[in-house]
Amino acid sequence: MSGPASVESDVPVLIAGGGLIGLSAAMFLAQHGIPSLAVERLRGGSQLPRAAFFHMRTLEMFRSAGIEDEVREQSRKEFEPEGALIIMDTLAGKKLADIIPSLNEGVDALSPCRRLFVTQPGLEPILRRRAEAAGAKVLDGYEAVGVDQDADGVTLTAQDVETGQQRKLRGQYLLGADGAHSRIRDLLDIPFDGRGVFSNSITIYFHADLGPQLLGKQLSVVYINNATLGGFFRMDKDCKSGFLAVNTVGDPKKDPKAAADAAADISEARLIELVRAGAGIPDLPVKIDGVARWRATSDVARRFREGRVFLAGDAVHLVIPTGGLGMNSGVGDAVDLSWKLAATLQGWGGPKLLPSYEVERRQVGARNVAASRHATLGRRVWRGAYRPLIREATPEGLAARAQFAALADVEQRKASDMIGAELGYRYIGSPLIAQEGGEGPEQKFMDYEPTTWPGARLPHTWLADGSAMQDRIGYGHGYTLLRLGGTRVSTDALERAFAAIRAPLQVLDIAGAAPRDVYGYDLLLLRPDLHVAWRGNALPQAPEALAAMATGY
Ligand SMILES: Cc1cc2nc3c(=O)[nH]c(=O)nc-3n(C[C@H](O)[C@H](O)[C@H](O)COP(=O)(O)OP(=O)(O)OC[C@H]3O[C@@H](n4cnc5c(N)ncnc54)[C@H](O)[C@@H]3O)c2cc1C
Repeated sequence: MSGPASVESDVPVLIAGGGLIGLSAAMFLAQHGIPSLAVERLRGGSQLPRAAFFHMRTLEMFRSAGIEDEVREQSRKEFEPEGALIIMDTLAGKKLADIIPSLNEGVDALSPCRRLFVTQPGLEPILRRRAEAAGAKVLDGYEAVGVDQDADGVTLTAQDVETGQQRKLRGQYLLGADGAHSRIRDLLDIPFDGRGVFSNSITIYFHADLGPQLLGKQLSVVYINNATLGGFFRMDKDCKSGFLAVNTVGDPKKDPKAAADAAADISEARLIELVRAGAGIPDLPVKIDGVARWRATSDVARRFREGRVFLAGDAVHLVIPTGGLGMNSGVGDAVDLSWKLAATLQGWGGPKLLPSYEVERRQVGARNVAASRHATLGRRVWRGAYRPLIREATPEGLAARAQFAALADVEQRKASDMIGAELGYRYIGSPLIAQEGGEGPEQKFMDYEPTTWPGARLPHTWLADGSAMQDRIGYGHGYTLLRLGGTRVSTDALERAFAAIRAPLQVLDIAGAAPRDVYGYDLLLLRPDLHVAWRGNALPQAPEALAAMATGY
C-alpha cells in the first residue's frame, strides 16, 4: 500500500458506496443541480440480485427523477408483471396458501405508480446512467478507508482495491452509503441499537430448469415450507435461473438454534441439496452460481450524522428482508437528504435543515425496522404451523391445509402488504413541519389512511383531466403552495417571505371540488419531497415565520 497523494478533487458531495442508495442519492442530488462523486469498491456493480420488491412510494421518487418508465421496462424484462405470492411445500408439490394474487391488488387509487420487481443488477445501471448524465461521477474499484472533517469540508481517503494506491478526495459533505458493514459508520464510531441477529440466512444463486413447474403461472415469489427448509424462490422470467433464500433448515421446533443457522454448511453439495429440496425434484440438474450469507437483523444506528458526514440506507438501518423495506427505506433517506444538502449548498437552506435529516429519517428507519420484525414474527407463526400431514390427500390433510392457509393469509400479509409502512409514514417532531394540536393520525404498518396532517406525504389524487396531482405539481420546483377549490385567499405575503429567503416557491391553483375534498384544506404548503409542511384555509398571522420554519431557520 502506498501513502496518500495530495487532495485531488473538490466536489460538493462525496458518496462512499455506489450501490442502490449511493447511486440514488447521486441521482437525486444531480436532479437538484448538485454534482457528486461516488466511490465504489466493486468494478461493474453488484451482481447479486438481493432487493427486488419496490414500493409505490419508491417508484414515485423514481418518477420524479424521470426513470420510472425505464425501471418498469427493466422489470418487464426480468419478471412476470403483477405476479402473485404463494406458499408451496415444494415447487413440484402442493400449494399450501395464496397470499396475494397480484402485487398491486387494491392499490390503484393510492398512487400514480405501481409496485414492481426489478433486480439490483438491473436497476443499478439505470440509476447510474441517470446520475452520470446529470453530472454525477462514480469512481469504481476504490474503497473508502478514511475520513477527516474540519469546519469547511470532509477529506475521504479512497484506496484502489487492486493496487492499494490511495487518493484523497475533498468534498463539502460526505454521504456514507456503504451498506450494512459500513466502514464510514465504523470510522465515526456509531453503534447500532436493536434486536440483533434473528437467523444466519443464505441466498443460493443457481441455474436449473424450473420451467415445467413455474412457467406461465404469473408468480413473483414462492415461499417454501417443508421438513428440509423454510425460504423463498424468486426466479427469472424464463424460470431457468434465480435464487433460493433459505432462512431456516430442519425443524425449528426440535432444534431452534440449528434451524436458524442455514449458513452452517454452504458446501456445493449442500446447496444443491437445498435447491432440490425446495424444488421437490431429487435429481434436478442444478448449477450453483454463488451463495451469499446474510444475517437477518433488525437494528437502527444511534445517529445518522456526525458533523458533515451523513449515513443512509443499510449503513443505518438493517431490516429483515421480509417485506422488502430495506432498499425502499434507503431511497427515502436519499430523497430527504439530497434536497436538504442542495438547499444548504445553494445558500437558502437554514441551519436546522441538515439536522432535520436525522430527526425525520431515523424515526422512519426505526419504524421500518420494527415493521420488518413484526413481519418476520408473522412468518414464523405460519412456518411453525407446518405439519407433514398437510401433504396428504386425506380429509385430515385437507383440513390441515385449510387451517394452514387461513393462518398464512393473516400472518404472511404482515410482510406482503405493509401499505402503512409504504405510504403512511409522516415526520413527527421535525423542526421543518408545522405543529398542530393533538397527536395526529396513528401510523400503522398495515393500514394507510390518506391524510394531509403536516409531515405526511401528499396523498395521491387523479385530477379531472386524468393527470396525477404529483405530475401537475411537477418536480424540482422547490416548495409548492397548493391553492385548492378556487380559494381567493391572498398568498402574497408568503410568496414575499420565501422570496426574501431566496427559497424557490411556486404557487399552483388546482380548481375543482374533488381535490379540495380529498385534502380537506384550501392551502397546502409542500416541501420539495412532497411532504406537507403546513395546511390551512388562510395564511397564518406571521407568514415569514412559516417560510422560515419550512426552510430550516
Ligand atoms: C435476500 C435479500 C432480499 C432483499 N430483498 C429486498 C427487497 O425486495 N426490497 C428491498 O427494499 N430490500 C431488499 N433487501 C435489502 C436490500 O438489498 C438492501 O436494503 C439494499 O441493498 C441497501 O442498499 P445500500 O446501497 O444501502 O447497500 P448495498 O446495496 O449493500 O450497497 C453498498 C455499496 O457500497 C459498496 N461499499 C461497501 N463498502 C465500501 C467502502 N468502504 N468503500 C466504497 N464502497 C463500499 C458496496 O460494494 C456496495 O455497492 C434484500 C436483502 C436481501 C439480503
